[in-house]
Amino acid sequence: MKYTTPLLPYAYNALEPYIDQATMEIHHDKHHVAYTSKLNAALEAHPDLFNKSAEELLAGLETLPAEIKLAVQNNGGGHVHHSFFWEILRPGTENNLPAGEIAKAINDTFGSFEKFQEEFANAASTVFGSGWAWLVIDPSTDSGELKITKTSNQDSPYSLGQIPLLGLDVWEHAYYLKYQNRRPEYIENFWPIVNWDKINELYLKNK
Ligand code: MN
Repeated sequence: MKYTTPLLPYAYNALEPYIDQATMEIHHDKHHVAYTSKLNAALEAHPDLFNKSAEELLAGLETLPAEIKLAVQNNGGGHVHHSFFWEILRPGTENNLPAGEIAKAINDTFGSFEKFQEEFANAASTVFGSGWAWLVIDPSTDSGELKITKTSNQDSPYSLGQIPLLGLDVWEHAYYLKYQNRRPEYIENFWPIVNWDKINELYLKNK
């Protein structure tokens, strides 16, 4: 089965005014669709690989045939990360705070939600060029530790054995129409649209 670009779980304008409709249309219908179709094209000569989830492909990057490894890293990463990104967003609310076990885990790990926000924003604003900031679970630690990380381009936490809980796309295509060069303002406007229920669900499933 070829990979497909999932539909947005909300309307293109649902994240206004934090992320504008035009950005969502181009980001989903052009950028995401291109990643998915290039991933499918790369796997055409290795159709058995379609039996794996795209996350599994990224986790097993080193085991892939050499001639498709980079295409899967870039376009498989793009496909997986954008599918994930749409799911961890929702229409904005003021004072949008984590609840449930993820709230406690964030407090325990980072000291407070404000400290976590500060560290995450710092990671997102210091990605040089294109990439992502992440909150991940690192299962290699006994406690299933939470970590803030960043990756370049579409390099994936899955390829490092980590499970993403929250991610912020800081490629210019994600914010330039509305925010131009003001990446910090885009990062600030991310907090009201984070879907903490979804992130709590991912945390409970993977911790
Ligand atoms: Mn993107």
